[in-house]
Amino acid sequence: MTEITRRQFAGLTAGAGLIGAMPRLSRRAFAQAAGKIVIIGGGPGGVTVANRVKAASPDLDVTLIEPKQQYTTCFSSNLYIGGFRSFRSITHDYEVVKKRGIRVVSDMASAVDPTAKTVTLAKGGAAIPYDRLVIAPGIDIKFDSVEGYSLEAAEIMPHAWQGGPQTWLLKQKLLAMSDGGLVVITVPPNPYRCPPGPYERACMIGHFLKTRKPKSKLIIFDAKKTISKQAVFEEAFAEFYKDIIELNLTNEIDDFAVQRVDPKTGDVVVKAGRTERATVANIIPAQKAGGIAALAGVTDGDWCPVNPDNFASTKVKDVYVLGDAAIAADMPKSAYTAVSQAGVVAADIIADLSGQPRTPGTYRNTCWSMLAPENSAKVGADYTPVMKDGKGFLEPKNSFVSKPGESAEVRRETYDESVGWYASLVADLFGTVPATADAPDDAQDKGPGDVPASDKAAHKK
Ligand SMILES: Cc1cc2nc3c(=O)[nH]c(=O)nc-3n(C[C@H](O)[C@H](O)[C@H](O)COP(=O)(O)OP(=O)(O)OC[C@H]3O[C@@H](n4cnc5c(N)ncnc54)[C@H](O)[C@@H]3O)c2cc1C
Repeated sequence: MTEITRRQFAGLTAGAGLIGAMPRLSRRAFAQAAGKIVIIGGGPGGVTVANRVKAASPDLDVTLIEPKQQYTTCFSSNLYIGGFRSFRSITHDYEVVKKRGIRVVSDMASAVDPTAKTVTLAKGGAAIPYDRLVIAPGIDIKFDSVEGYSLEAAEIMPHAWQGGPQTWLLKQKLLAMSDGGLVVITVPPNPYRCPPGPYERACMIGHFLKTRKPKSKLIIFDAKKTISKQAVFEEAFAEFYKDIIELNLTNEIDDFAVQRVDPKTGDVVVKAGRTERATVANIIPAQKAGGIAALAGVTDGDWCPVNPDNFASTKVKDVYVLGDAAIAADMPKSAYTAVSQAGVVAADIIADLSGQPRTPGTYRNTCWSMLAPENSAKVGADYTPVMKDGKGFLEPKNSFVSKPGESAEVRRETYDESVGWYASLVADLFGTVPATADAPDDAQDKGPGDVPASDKAAHKK
């Protein structure tokens, strides 16, 4: 890992104070809180709740259930694909989390009994009792949303939309592709994890092709008419990847939503009838809340409705749902929002367990996207719970988005902010020593190794 620069350190310290900050609570609330808190899911949402409640009230009994021994972040995974980070630098373990006094159970939660208030584990053993349960399982892939796609097809046409072996696989396929190959990315309809993610990925694959396989091309088929940070991405595609990237957004005449794929031939067929034979196909299907959410009875359709004041489930008492699995109105499904929601959930649990007043939370999001070396754009907003027609919503305020035509200096500052945010976030979550982007040697880079077994099992569910 390389040393963090002075500029990036400024971004790091600026970002650190905002990471899952808990709303103010009295000292008495922390002292009086008592009970068993169980958290399902060791991503940024779940780990932040665990860290915050344990740090605030060390006597609380906090259990985190997560099947993976190591967590590979989806955030910054596109930088790995582009060649700006090693796989190792985006993979973190739970050893420091354990040292913080949090009991980490390496297993899948397989059922929730809301009456007995227990969680059952896939490997068996005694069910785990809870006073408050937090469900933060991220997403499951809807394999059947694309004809011909399946768990097995994903080994040939990776989605790489869950961090770990899939991320590694997509990169290996790009490394193995001969110069002159065709990469196809298909993008699902809303809502899905990380709205700007597919286009950042296109930029990073574009950079990889430009610098290492310049005769190759990348075609994007998108199920949507408009996309996040559209003006900035279109400008980047034209400026940096002119003869490489072709973006096809869906319109009234041609429907560029993917209809069918054939892993044997590499064919990707869109609804308008166009077929492309991909050398590397990155199929990103539609998504839904991680399977345990439906088993726990907290879903309404694909996602989980919550009270916007505190992310308590509207379906099951004493259960919270946060992060990608929750319906959070306009808040995009991002690590930043998951962590912001987690700070509010942690404070609400402590206030509730200690009989203190519970105050509605406020939230924030920023999503950075790398366009080219040291050149990033961002979009974000603050969110406040409001009542409209008797229903709770999250209203965006102070929203901002990078503009096309920004100077190289502004884009470099934005890039530095993003590196600083990542470093401060993983330090906060996993106690990982802050590292800036480390240019990898692909031959030397360490792959998922011991990661896949549990990861694959996790995503079969
Ligand atoms: C390519 C890409 C780029 C991205 N870039 C950014 C970015 O730049 N910035 C940003 O903010 N966000 C980004 N995101 C989005 C971000 O990764 C997610 O929004 C974030 O990880 C959601 O956090 P979470 O805690 O809700 O879920 P996850 O991070 O998915 O964590 C959920 C965890 O729960 C575990 N789990 C699932 N089911 C069970 C069960 N039954 N029992 C126990 N554990 C279970 C899973 O193994 C997993 O570890 C990106 C995503 C992608 C795909």
